[in-house]
Amino acid sequence: MTSTTINGGISFWYAAHGTPPPRAPLTGDTTADVVIVGGGYTGLWTAYYLKQAAPFLRITVLEQKFCGYGASGRNGGWLYNGIAGRDRYARLHGQDAAVRLQKAMNDTVTEVIETAAKEGIDADIHHGGVLEVARTPAQLARLKAFHEAETAFGETDRELYDALRTREHINIADAVGSTWTPHGARIHPAKLVTGLADLCERLGVTIHESTPVTEIAPRRATTPYGTVRAPYVLRCTEGFTAALKGQKRSWLPMNSSMIVTAPVPAATWEQIGWTSRATLGDMAHAYMYAQRTADDRIALGGRGVPYRFGSRTDNDGRTQPATIAALTDLLTAFFPQLTGIDITHAWSGVLGVPRDWCATVTLDRSTGLGWAGGYVGSGVATANLAARTLRDLIQQDSGQAGPTELTTLPWVNHRVRRWEPEPLRWLGVHALYAAYREADRQESRTHTPTTTPLARFADRLSGRH
Ligand SMILES: Cc1cc2nc3c(=O)[nH]c(=O)nc-3n(C[C@H](O)[C@H](O)[C@H](O)COP(=O)(O)OP(=O)(O)OC[C@H]3O[C@@H](n4cnc5c(N)ncnc54)[C@H](O)[C@@H]3O)c2cc1C
Repeated sequence: MTSTTINGGISFWYAAHGTPPPRAPLTGDTTADVVIVGGGYTGLWTAYYLKQAAPFLRITVLEQKFCGYGASGRNGGWLYNGIAGRDRYARLHGQDAAVRLQKAMNDTVTEVIETAAKEGIDADIHHGGVLEVARTPAQLARLKAFHEAETAFGETDRELYDALRTREHINIADAVGSTWTPHGARIHPAKLVTGLADLCERLGVTIHESTPVTEIAPRRATTPYGTVRAPYVLRCTEGFTAALKGQKRSWLPMNSSMIVTAPVPAATWEQIGWTSRATLGDMAHAYMYAQRTADDRIALGGRGVPYRFGSRTDNDGRTQPATIAALTDLLTAFFPQLTGIDITHAWSGVLGVPRDWCATVTLDRSTGLGWAGGYVGSGVATANLAARTLRDLIQQDSGQAGPTELTTLPWVNHRVRRWEPEPLRWLGVHALYAAYREADRQESRTHTPTTTPLARFADRLSGRH
């Protein structure tokens, strides 16, 4: 971190144009056909698809700050086909059901790219796939197992690269192998979410910003400025869910932090390569994710302080200096050529983590309450699949349509137990990430060819696998 690093300010993604002009808050009691709480990708895509399917619907979105304030305006910009919980869904519902879910995710990447193009949303989308690298023998063993598992879930177009091929793509120090899938694209997160909000408004969706919902109940969402009554109330609040009445222990708000460099000089890009602009990740337990931005910077993220006591969330993305230093060290470990480069921005955001780490989409037909999320770190594409599924569930419930392929996917209407009360929750998450960081250190120090028992233990303890 240098004295010029901008720390917080929501995220780097708003740096060029600032945050969007505010929309008016709610000004009294009203009614709608569908009320959506939360103006991120989930809420806005849901409003979009519902309005497309039934233009007569009166849809109101209530957003506590501004559309794109949450993870949708802060993420790493990996639009990719990963979905949290797929392997558990395979165990619960069978391999075929999980393969259908995976195929739906593959199609979702294409759906977002095509819809953005069709609707004129310029989100710097570049369809270069996803490259995940291994930098230690233990990571390589996990990478090969991961590659095999993904192929078994129907990704026959996935490729496995040795060290040389990996470096031909991206010249990463110490890379010993990688796996590449075409089912991924680089996006500019804030451009996508602000473009979506504008699109929804053009289609006739009512959006109220600076309107925090204090309670969601069957057929109503309550705010300090009035209550919106509707047959369907959809909760699309992801990492902020714990702040809602009665939701404190449902999804745990997990922090993820990012840094971005100054534009990298052309001569350095010659050394690094990365001409495909594939999004980049690794196989560490405390994994990283990165993208080459449209203006030729590197934006890189990972876990900092993973979780705040009492499920608190942040305000403006301010990040601890130690986290910024750790991410900068990681950046230069990958790319020693970048030692000393300016880190122009650092920020953090929250993602939602259910107790079993499985993303879900639900409509309770008896109450009209719906929700989607718990995407962990894979929500950019998943939110779109969730939105189309919520549309189909509402269409089905209101008698406009029957069941569809999406309403029968295994993540629909999945229920999970709640997180432990404090201080167990805080202690558990911090111990988990300390264990993952130590496991990464052990694996790179000892060059062991297999995952350390510590990481396996942490996986079991967390309920992740
Ligand atoms: C730093 C970071 C990096 C990430 N990188 C990636 C990535 O590269 N790829 C990927 O697939 N996923 C990534 N994710 C996850 C992904 O961004 C999220 O899963 C996704 O954006 C979730 O969208 P959402 O609309 O469900 O939630 P959010 O975008 O968080 O939106 C929720 C909205 O609800 C509003 N809200 C909350 N509570 C209330 C209330 N009570 N009343 C009114 N409004 C409320 C919030 O202000 C917010 O705008 C990342 C997340 C973070 C934080």
